[in-house]
Amino acid sequence: KLARAMELAQNGDLMVRAPVESVDEFGQLAESFNQMLSRLTALTARELDTARELEAAQKELKLTVEIEEKKTLLEDANRKLAQRVNELSVLFGISQEVSAELHLERLFNALTHIVGDTLGYNEFALLLLDEAGEQLTICATSGFGEAEDVKGVTFKVGEGITGRVAASGEMILIEDTRKDERFLHYKGKRLVDGCFLALPLKVHERVLGVLSFLRPALEGFSEPEIKFLTSLASQVAIAIDNARLYERVEALSATDELTGLPNRRTFIERLTRELKRADRDSKTTSLAMIDIDYFKHYNDTNGHIEGDALLRRIAMILAGQVRSVDLVARYGGEEFVVVLPGADQAEALKVAEKLRTRVERTAFDYATTQPAGRLTISVGVATYPTDALSSEDLLVRADFALYRAKEYGRNRVLGFDEKMRTAFVKSRTRSVG
Ligand code: GH3
Ligand code: MG
Ligand code: MG
Repeated sequence: KLARAMELAQNGDLMVRAPVESVDEFGQLAESFNQMLSRLTALTARELDTARELEAAQKELKLTVEIEEKKTLLEDANRKLAQRVNELSVLFGISQEVSAELHLERLFNALTHIVGDTLGYNEFALLLLDEAGEQLTICATSGFGEAEDVKGVTFKVGEGITGRVAASGEMILIEDTRKDERFLHYKGKRLVDGCFLALPLKVHERVLGVLSFLRPALEGFSEPEIKFLTSLASQVAIAIDNARLYERVEALSATDELTGLPNRRTFIERLTRELKRADRDSKTTSLAMIDIDYFKHYNDTNGHIEGDALLRRIAMILAGQVRSVDLVARYGGEEFVVVLPGADQAEALKVAEKLRTRVERTAFDYATTQPAGRLTISVGVATYPTDALSSEDLLVRADFALYRAKEYGRNRVLGFDEKMRTAFVKSRTRSVG
Protein backbone atom coordinates (compact mmCIF):
# COMPACT_ATOMS: atom_id res chain seq x y z
CA LYS A 1 0.00 0.00 0.00
CA LEU A 2 2.87 2.29 0.89
CA ALA A 3 4.62 1.56 -2.37
CA ARG A 4 1.38 2.29 -4.27
CA ALA A 5 0.99 5.64 -2.52
CA MET A 6 4.59 6.57 -3.31
CA GLU A 7 4.09 5.70 -6.93
CA LEU A 8 1.00 7.91 -7.13
CA ALA A 9 2.89 10.78 -5.48
CA GLN A 10 5.72 10.32 -7.90
CA ASN A 11 3.24 10.75 -10.74
CA GLY A 12 2.14 14.04 -9.31
CA ASP A 13 -0.74 13.29 -7.01
CA LEU A 14 0.34 15.17 -3.94
CA MET A 15 -2.95 14.62 -2.16
CA VAL A 16 -2.44 10.90 -1.79
CA ARG A 17 -1.72 9.60 1.72
CA ALA A 18 -0.29 6.23 2.84
CA PRO A 19 -2.30 4.34 5.45
CA VAL A 20 -0.50 4.00 8.75
CA GLU A 21 -1.53 0.53 9.89
CA SER A 22 1.23 -0.49 12.21
CA VAL A 23 3.71 0.97 14.67
CA ASP A 24 6.71 -0.71 13.11
CA GLU A 25 9.15 0.73 10.60
CA PHE A 26 6.50 0.60 7.83
CA GLY A 27 4.15 2.59 9.98
CA GLN A 28 6.84 5.21 10.71
CA LEU A 29 7.81 5.32 7.06
CA ALA A 30 4.20 5.87 6.05
CA GLU A 31 3.89 8.54 8.75
CA SER A 32 6.99 10.49 7.48
CA PHE A 33 5.90 10.03 3.89
CA ASN A 34 2.55 11.59 4.75
CA GLN A 35 4.16 14.48 6.62
CA MET A 36 6.53 15.14 3.76
CA LEU A 37 3.62 15.16 1.32
CA SER A 38 1.57 17.56 3.43
CA ARG A 39 4.53 19.94 3.70
CA LEU A 40 4.94 19.69 -0.01
CA THR A 41 1.31 20.57 -0.67
CA ALA A 42 1.52 23.50 1.76
CA LEU A 43 4.59 24.72 -0.07
CA THR A 44 2.94 24.44 -3.46
CA ALA A 45 -0.11 26.26 -2.20
CA ARG A 46 2.08 29.13 -0.94
CA GLU A 47 3.90 29.26 -4.24
CA LEU A 48 0.59 29.49 -6.05
CA ASP A 49 -0.52 32.28 -3.76
CA THR A 50 2.67 34.22 -4.36
CA ALA A 51 2.31 33.86 -8.10
CA ARG A 52 -1.26 35.05 -7.90
CA GLU A 53 -0.26 38.01 -5.75
CA LEU A 54 2.50 38.89 -8.14
CA GLU A 55 0.12 38.82 -11.05
CA ALA A 56 -2.36 41.02 -9.19
CA ALA A 57 0.36 43.48 -8.30
CA GLN A 58 1.46 43.65 -11.90
CA LYS A 59 -2.09 44.26 -13.04
CA GLU A 60 -2.50 47.02 -10.49
CA LEU A 61 0.71 48.64 -11.61
CA LYS A 62 -0.43 48.61 -15.19
CA LEU A 63 -3.75 50.16 -14.20
CA THR A 64 -2.01 52.87 -12.20
CA VAL A 65 0.10 53.75 -15.21
CA GLU A 66 -2.99 53.82 -17.41
CA ILE A 67 -4.82 56.03 -14.94
CA GLU A 68 -1.86 58.41 -14.80
CA GLU A 69 -1.84 58.60 -18.58
CA LYS A 70 -5.58 59.24 -18.70
CA LYS A 71 -5.20 61.89 -16.04
CA THR A 72 -2.57 63.76 -18.05
CA LEU A 73 -4.78 63.55 -21.11
CA LEU A 74 -7.74 64.86 -19.15
CA GLU A 75 -5.74 67.69 -17.63
CA ASP A 76 -4.47 68.61 -21.06
CA ALA A 77 -7.97 68.57 -22.53
CA ASN A 78 -9.19 70.63 -19.59
CA ARG A 79 -6.50 73.23 -20.06
CA LYS A 80 -7.27 73.49 -23.77
CA LEU A 81 -10.97 73.75 -23.03
CA ALA A 82 -10.43 76.48 -20.45
CA GLN A 83 -8.27 78.37 -22.92
CA ARG A 84 -10.88 78.00 -25.63
CA VAL A 85 -13.65 79.18 -23.30
CA ASN A 86 -11.53 82.16 -22.39
CA GLU A 87 -10.87 82.97 -26.03
CA LEU A 88 -14.53 82.62 -26.86
CA SER A 89 -15.59 84.92 -24.06
CA VAL A 90 -13.02 87.49 -25.17
CA LEU A 91 -14.25 87.13 -28.71
CA PHE A 92 -17.84 87.50 -27.56
CA GLY A 93 -16.97 90.65 -25.63
CA ILE A 94 -15.16 92.03 -28.63
CA SER A 95 -17.92 91.27 -31.06
CA GLN A 96 -20.41 92.92 -28.71
CA GLU A 97 -18.32 96.01 -28.28
CA VAL A 98 -17.29 96.24 -31.90
CA SER A 99 -20.62 95.44 -33.50
CA ALA A 100 -22.39 98.07 -31.39
CA GLU A 101 -20.15 100.71 -32.90
CA LEU A 102 -21.59 102.33 -35.98
CA HIS A 103 -19.04 105.10 -36.44
CA LEU A 104 -15.93 103.93 -38.23
CA GLU A 105 -13.59 106.26 -36.34
CA ARG A 106 -14.91 105.09 -32.97
CA LEU A 107 -14.87 101.51 -34.14
CA PHE A 108 -11.17 101.89 -34.84
CA ASN A 109 -10.63 103.42 -31.40
CA ALA A 110 -12.45 100.54 -29.74
CA LEU A 111 -10.43 98.06 -31.73
CA THR A 112 -7.12 99.68 -30.91
CA HIS A 113 -8.07 99.52 -27.27
CA ILE A 114 -9.20 95.89 -27.34
CA VAL A 115 -6.48 94.39 -29.49
CA GLY A 116 -3.68 96.52 -28.11
CA ASP A 117 -4.51 96.84 -24.41
CA THR A 118 -6.84 93.96 -23.62
CA LEU A 119 -5.38 91.21 -25.78
CA GLY A 120 -1.82 92.47 -25.56
CA TYR A 121 -0.88 92.40 -29.22
CA ASN A 122 1.68 95.15 -29.10
CA GLU A 123 1.70 96.04 -32.69
CA PHE A 124 -1.07 95.87 -35.21
CA ALA A 125 -2.42 97.82 -38.14
CA LEU A 126 -5.78 97.93 -39.84
CA LEU A 127 -5.89 98.72 -43.52
CA LEU A 128 -9.02 99.45 -45.50
CA LEU A 129 -9.56 98.91 -49.19
CA ASP A 130 -10.98 101.84 -51.16
CA GLU A 131 -14.29 101.65 -53.03
CA ALA A 132 -12.57 100.86 -56.31
CA GLY A 133 -10.79 97.96 -54.64
CA GLU A 134 -7.40 99.20 -55.78
CA GLN A 135 -5.70 100.74 -52.80
CA LEU A 136 -5.27 99.94 -49.12
CA THR A 137 -4.89 102.73 -46.55
CA ILE A 138 -3.70 102.30 -42.99
CA CYS A 139 -6.62 103.54 -40.88
CA ALA A 140 -5.77 102.42 -37.35
CA THR A 141 -2.59 101.32 -35.63
CA SER A 142 -1.36 100.42 -32.21
CA GLY A 143 2.15 100.10 -30.88
CA PHE A 144 3.89 102.42 -33.28
CA GLY A 145 6.24 105.06 -31.93
CA GLU A 146 5.49 108.77 -32.32
CA ALA A 147 8.01 109.14 -35.12
CA GLU A 148 6.56 106.16 -36.94
CA ASP A 149 3.19 107.54 -37.82
CA VAL A 150 2.16 105.17 -40.56
CA LYS A 151 -1.50 106.19 -40.56
CA GLY A 152 -2.51 107.18 -44.07
CA VAL A 153 0.25 105.15 -45.72
CA THR A 154 -1.16 103.37 -48.77
CA PHE A 155 -0.42 100.13 -50.60
CA LYS A 156 -1.64 99.10 -54.00
CA VAL A 157 -3.47 95.80 -54.13
CA GLY A 158 -0.79 93.20 -54.79
CA GLU A 159 1.95 95.35 -53.29
CA GLY A 160 3.89 94.13 -50.26
CA ILE A 161 2.39 91.57 -47.91
CA THR A 162 -0.88 93.30 -47.07
CA GLY A 163 -1.44 94.11 -50.74
CA ARG A 164 -1.06 90.44 -51.56
CA VAL A 165 -3.48 89.43 -48.83
CA ALA A 166 -6.02 91.92 -50.19
CA ALA A 167 -5.53 90.54 -53.69
CA SER A 168 -5.88 86.88 -52.78
CA GLY A 169 -8.17 87.06 -49.75
CA GLU A 170 -5.85 84.56 -48.06
CA MET A 171 -3.76 85.12 -44.95
CA ILE A 172 0.03 85.33 -45.07
CA LEU A 173 2.31 84.39 -42.19
CA ILE A 174 5.98 85.34 -42.33
CA GLU A 175 8.05 83.70 -39.62
CA ASP A 176 10.90 86.17 -39.97
CA THR A 177 10.54 89.35 -42.00
CA ARG A 178 14.31 89.65 -42.37
CA LYS A 179 14.22 86.63 -44.64
CA ASP A 180 11.35 87.82 -46.79
CA GLU A 181 11.86 90.69 -49.15
CA ARG A 182 8.13 91.00 -49.86
CA PHE A 183 7.87 92.77 -46.47
CA LEU A 184 8.09 96.53 -47.08
CA HIS A 185 8.40 97.84 -43.49
CA TYR A 186 5.42 100.13 -43.98
CA LYS A 187 7.23 101.78 -46.85
CA GLY A 188 10.37 102.19 -44.79
CA LYS A 189 8.56 104.02 -41.99
CA ARG A 190 9.16 101.31 -39.45
CA LEU A 191 12.26 99.20 -39.75
CA VAL A 192 11.46 96.72 -37.02
CA ASP A 193 11.55 93.03 -37.99
CA GLY A 194 9.79 90.03 -36.54
CA CYS A 195 7.03 87.55 -37.19
CA PHE A 196 4.30 89.10 -39.34
CA LEU A 197 0.75 87.89 -39.71
CA ALA A 198 -1.63 89.51 -42.19
CA LEU A 199 -5.28 88.43 -42.23
CA PRO A 200 -7.90 89.45 -44.75
CA LEU A 201 -11.00 91.29 -43.49
CA LYS A 202 -13.71 89.52 -45.43
CA VAL A 203 -17.49 89.59 -45.53
CA HIS A 204 -19.03 86.97 -47.81
CA GLU A 205 -15.77 86.54 -49.71
CA ARG A 206 -15.64 90.30 -50.30
CA VAL A 207 -12.32 91.72 -49.06
CA LEU A 208 -12.72 94.98 -47.11
CA GLY A 209 -9.18 95.31 -45.88
CA VAL A 210 -6.38 93.65 -43.96
CA LEU A 211 -5.55 93.25 -40.29
CA SER A 212 -1.85 92.77 -39.61
CA PHE A 213 0.18 91.89 -36.54
CA LEU A 214 3.89 92.02 -35.87
CA ARG A 215 5.75 90.55 -32.94
CA PRO A 216 9.31 89.38 -32.23
CA ALA A 217 10.23 86.48 -34.53
CA LEU A 218 11.05 84.20 -31.61
CA GLU A 219 7.52 84.43 -30.21
CA GLY A 220 5.77 83.63 -33.47
CA PHE A 221 2.05 82.90 -33.80
CA SER A 222 0.73 79.51 -32.69
CA GLU A 223 -1.89 77.55 -34.60
CA PRO A 224 -4.70 78.27 -32.05
CA GLU A 225 -3.72 81.94 -31.93
CA ILE A 226 -4.04 82.25 -35.68
CA LYS A 227 -7.45 80.60 -35.48
CA PHE A 228 -8.49 83.06 -32.79
CA LEU A 229 -7.25 86.09 -34.70
CA THR A 230 -9.02 84.83 -37.82
CA SER A 231 -12.33 84.76 -35.95
CA LEU A 232 -11.56 88.20 -34.60
CA ALA A 233 -10.90 89.44 -38.14
CA SER A 234 -14.24 88.18 -39.34
CA GLN A 235 -16.03 89.97 -36.47
CA VAL A 236 -14.18 93.16 -37.26
CA ALA A 237 -15.00 92.85 -40.95
CA ILE A 238 -18.71 92.56 -40.22
CA ALA A 239 -18.57 95.57 -37.91
CA ILE A 240 -16.76 97.65 -40.53
CA ASP A 241 -19.27 96.67 -43.16
CA ASN A 242 -22.14 97.72 -40.88
CA ALA A 243 -20.53 101.01 -39.96
CA ARG A 244 -19.92 101.83 -43.60
CA LEU A 245 -23.47 101.04 -44.50
CA TYR A 246 -24.68 103.22 -41.65
CA GLU A 247 -22.46 106.10 -42.73
CA ARG A 248 -23.73 105.80 -46.27
CA VAL A 249 -27.34 105.86 -45.12
CA GLU A 250 -26.66 108.76 -42.81
CA ALA A 251 -24.91 110.71 -45.53
CA LEU A 252 -28.01 110.32 -47.65
CA SER A 253 -30.26 111.86 -45.03
CA ALA A 254 -30.26 115.45 -43.87
CA THR A 255 -30.26 115.16 -40.11
CA ASP A 256 -27.99 113.52 -37.66
CA GLU A 257 -29.83 110.72 -35.93
CA LEU A 258 -28.31 111.14 -32.50
CA THR A 259 -28.82 114.87 -31.94
CA GLY A 260 -31.51 115.65 -34.49
CA LEU A 261 -29.35 118.53 -35.74
CA PRO A 262 -28.65 119.02 -39.44
CA ASN A 263 -25.79 116.73 -40.39
CA ARG A 264 -22.53 117.49 -42.16
CA ARG A 265 -24.04 117.13 -45.60
CA THR A 266 -26.76 119.67 -44.87
CA PHE A 267 -24.19 121.96 -43.30
CA ILE A 268 -21.91 121.90 -46.36
CA GLU A 269 -24.85 122.61 -48.66
CA ARG A 270 -25.97 125.51 -46.51
CA LEU A 271 -22.45 126.92 -46.12
CA THR A 272 -21.90 126.85 -49.87
CA ARG A 273 -25.19 128.67 -50.38
CA GLU A 274 -24.39 131.28 -47.72
CA LEU A 275 -20.98 132.02 -49.23
CA LYS A 276 -22.57 132.61 -52.62
CA ARG A 277 -25.08 134.92 -51.03
CA ALA A 278 -22.29 136.77 -49.18
CA ASP A 279 -20.55 137.31 -52.52
CA ARG A 280 -23.74 138.61 -54.05
CA ASP A 281 -24.55 140.96 -51.17
CA SER A 282 -20.89 141.87 -50.50
CA LYS A 283 -21.25 140.70 -46.94
CA THR A 284 -19.29 138.47 -44.62
CA THR A 285 -20.28 135.10 -43.24
CA SER A 286 -18.59 133.48 -40.27
CA LEU A 287 -18.12 129.94 -39.23
CA ALA A 288 -17.62 128.69 -35.68
CA MET A 289 -16.22 125.25 -35.12
CA ILE A 290 -16.94 123.75 -31.71
CA ASP A 291 -15.35 120.79 -30.01
CA ILE A 292 -16.17 119.41 -26.58
CA ASP A 293 -13.19 119.45 -24.25
CA TYR A 294 -11.94 116.11 -23.00
CA PHE A 295 -14.93 114.32 -24.39
CA LYS A 296 -13.02 111.06 -24.73
CA HIS A 297 -12.44 111.23 -21.00
CA TYR A 298 -16.16 111.71 -20.43
CA ASN A 299 -16.91 108.67 -22.58
CA ASP A 300 -14.25 106.57 -20.95
CA THR A 301 -15.41 107.51 -17.46
CA ASN A 302 -19.18 107.40 -17.90
CA GLY A 303 -19.69 105.17 -20.92
CA HIS A 304 -20.86 105.85 -24.45
CA ILE A 305 -24.54 106.02 -23.54
CA GLU A 306 -23.91 108.95 -21.21
CA GLY A 307 -21.57 110.38 -23.84
CA ASP A 308 -24.39 110.28 -26.36
CA ALA A 309 -26.78 111.91 -23.88
CA LEU A 310 -24.28 114.70 -23.34
CA LEU A 311 -23.97 115.24 -27.09
CA ARG A 312 -27.73 115.64 -27.28
CA ARG A 313 -27.80 118.15 -24.43
CA ILE A 314 -25.01 120.22 -25.85
CA ALA A 315 -26.67 120.15 -29.26
CA MET A 316 -29.85 121.53 -27.66
CA ILE A 317 -27.97 124.25 -25.82
CA LEU A 318 -26.13 125.37 -28.94
CA ALA A 319 -29.23 125.35 -31.11
CA GLY A 320 -31.12 127.33 -28.49
CA GLN A 321 -28.57 130.13 -28.35
CA VAL A 322 -28.43 131.28 -31.97
CA ARG A 323 -30.63 133.38 -34.26
CA SER A 324 -33.04 131.60 -36.56
CA VAL A 325 -30.95 132.54 -39.60
CA ASP A 326 -27.94 130.79 -38.13
CA LEU A 327 -27.38 127.09 -38.60
CA VAL A 328 -26.08 124.76 -35.93
CA ALA A 329 -25.05 121.37 -37.27
CA ARG A 330 -23.25 118.31 -36.03
CA TYR A 331 -20.06 118.17 -38.01
CA GLY A 332 -18.99 114.76 -36.78
CA GLY A 333 -18.23 112.92 -33.51
CA GLU A 334 -18.24 115.59 -30.81
CA GLU A 335 -17.75 118.50 -33.15
CA PHE A 336 -20.40 121.04 -34.02
CA VAL A 337 -20.41 123.92 -36.47
CA VAL A 338 -22.36 127.15 -36.52
CA VAL A 339 -22.87 129.10 -39.75
CA LEU A 340 -23.45 132.77 -39.01
CA PRO A 341 -24.69 134.49 -42.18
CA GLY A 342 -23.83 138.19 -42.34
CA ALA A 343 -21.62 138.07 -39.25
CA ASP A 344 -18.10 139.52 -39.27
CA GLN A 345 -15.41 138.20 -36.96
CA ALA A 346 -16.26 140.46 -34.02
CA GLU A 347 -19.91 139.44 -34.10
CA ALA A 348 -19.05 135.81 -34.56
CA LEU A 349 -16.66 135.89 -31.62
CA LYS A 350 -19.42 137.35 -29.48
CA VAL A 351 -21.81 134.54 -30.39
CA ALA A 352 -19.10 131.96 -29.86
CA GLU A 353 -18.29 133.41 -26.46
CA LYS A 354 -21.96 133.27 -25.52
CA LEU A 355 -22.06 129.59 -26.46
CA ARG A 356 -18.90 128.88 -24.51
CA THR A 357 -20.10 130.58 -21.29
CA ARG A 358 -23.50 129.00 -21.63
CA VAL A 359 -22.00 125.51 -21.68
CA GLU A 360 -19.56 126.39 -18.92
CA ARG A 361 -22.42 127.50 -16.66
CA THR A 362 -24.68 124.57 -17.32
CA ALA A 363 -24.78 121.87 -14.65
CA PHE A 364 -24.18 118.60 -16.50
CA ASP A 365 -24.36 115.13 -15.03
CA TYR A 366 -20.93 113.82 -14.10
CA ALA A 367 -19.27 117.13 -15.01
CA THR A 368 -17.10 116.82 -11.92
CA THR A 369 -15.48 113.66 -13.25
CA GLN A 370 -13.89 115.75 -16.02
CA PRO A 371 -10.20 116.73 -15.81
CA ALA A 372 -11.02 120.39 -15.09
CA GLY A 373 -13.96 119.46 -12.85
CA ARG A 374 -16.48 120.85 -15.34
CA LEU A 375 -17.74 120.45 -18.86
CA THR A 376 -16.55 122.95 -21.42
CA ILE A 377 -16.16 123.54 -25.13
CA SER A 378 -13.52 125.20 -27.27
CA VAL A 379 -14.40 127.25 -30.32
CA GLY A 380 -12.50 128.35 -33.39
CA VAL A 381 -13.88 131.10 -35.61
CA ALA A 382 -13.06 132.08 -39.20
CA THR A 383 -14.73 134.58 -41.50
CA TYR A 384 -15.44 134.67 -45.21
CA PRO A 385 -13.97 136.29 -47.25
CA THR A 386 -11.54 137.87 -44.75
CA ASP A 387 -9.80 134.63 -43.75
CA ALA A 388 -10.63 132.30 -46.60
CA LEU A 389 -12.06 132.31 -50.09
CA SER A 390 -13.76 128.94 -50.23
CA SER A 391 -15.91 126.85 -47.95
CA GLU A 392 -13.15 124.24 -47.64
CA ASP A 393 -10.57 126.85 -46.64
CA LEU A 394 -12.98 128.48 -44.24
CA LEU A 395 -13.47 125.15 -42.52
CA VAL A 396 -9.75 124.44 -42.37
CA ARG A 397 -9.06 127.87 -40.83
CA ALA A 398 -11.82 127.64 -38.26
CA ASP A 399 -10.45 124.23 -37.38
CA PHE A 400 -6.96 125.67 -37.09
CA ALA A 401 -8.21 128.36 -34.68
CA LEU A 402 -9.99 125.63 -32.71
CA TYR A 403 -6.81 123.61 -32.59
CA ARG A 404 -5.03 126.67 -31.16
CA ALA A 405 -7.80 127.18 -28.60
CA LYS A 406 -7.17 123.63 -27.45
CA GLU A 407 -3.46 124.24 -27.33
CA TYR A 408 -3.89 127.35 -25.21
CA GLY A 409 -5.74 125.38 -22.57
CA ARG A 410 -9.29 124.72 -23.84
CA ASN A 411 -12.57 126.31 -22.68
CA ARG A 412 -11.87 129.30 -24.90
CA VAL A 413 -12.80 131.00 -28.13
CA LEU A 414 -10.20 132.01 -30.71
CA GLY A 415 -10.66 133.74 -34.04
CA PHE A 416 -8.32 133.08 -36.94
CA ASP A 417 -5.79 135.94 -36.89
CA GLU A 418 -2.60 137.23 -38.46
CA LYS A 419 -0.34 135.24 -36.17
CA MET A 420 -2.19 132.08 -37.03
CA ARG A 421 -2.03 132.94 -40.69
CA THR A 422 1.78 132.95 -40.54
CA ALA A 423 1.91 129.71 -38.55
CA PHE A 424 -0.68 128.20 -40.82
CA VAL A 425 1.17 129.04 -44.02
CA LYS A 426 4.36 127.68 -42.49
CA SER A 427 2.74 124.41 -41.44
CA ARG A 428 1.26 124.07 -44.90
CA THR A 429 4.59 124.64 -46.67
CA ARG A 430 6.23 122.15 -44.36
CA SER A 431 3.76 119.42 -45.08
CA VAL A 432 3.90 120.05 -48.81
CA GLY A 433 7.71 120.19 -48.88
P1 GH3 B 1 -10.00 117.49 -26.69
O1 GH3 B 1 -10.24 118.29 -25.47
O2 GH3 B 1 -8.62 117.68 -27.24
O3 GH3 B 1 -11.03 117.75 -27.74
O4 GH3 B 1 -10.08 115.97 -26.26
P2 GH3 B 1 -11.21 114.97 -26.61
O5 GH3 B 1 -11.09 113.83 -25.69
O6 GH3 B 1 -12.54 115.64 -26.64
O7 GH3 B 1 -10.85 114.63 -28.10
P3 GH3 B 1 -10.76 113.30 -28.92
O8 GH3 B 1 -10.89 113.70 -30.35
O9 GH3 B 1 -9.56 112.50 -28.52
O10 GH3 B 1 -12.00 112.44 -28.50
C1 GH3 B 1 -13.20 112.58 -29.11
C2 GH3 B 1 -14.03 111.45 -28.59
O11 GH3 B 1 -15.37 111.57 -28.99
C3 GH3 B 1 -13.57 110.11 -29.10
C4 GH3 B 1 -14.83 109.40 -29.54
O12 GH3 B 1 -14.89 108.13 -28.95
C5 GH3 B 1 -15.94 110.29 -29.02
N1 GH3 B 1 -17.12 110.32 -29.87
C6 GH3 B 1 -17.19 110.74 -31.14
N2 GH3 B 1 -18.47 110.62 -31.59
C7 GH3 B 1 -19.22 110.13 -30.58
C8 GH3 B 1 -20.61 109.80 -30.43
O13 GH3 B 1 -21.44 109.90 -31.34
N3 GH3 B 1 -21.02 109.32 -29.23
C9 GH3 B 1 -20.14 109.18 -28.20
N4 GH3 B 1 -20.61 108.72 -27.05
N5 GH3 B 1 -18.84 109.46 -28.31
C10 GH3 B 1 -18.37 109.94 -29.48
MG1 MG C 1 -12.72 116.25 -31.61
MG1 MG D 1 -12.92 117.08 -28.00
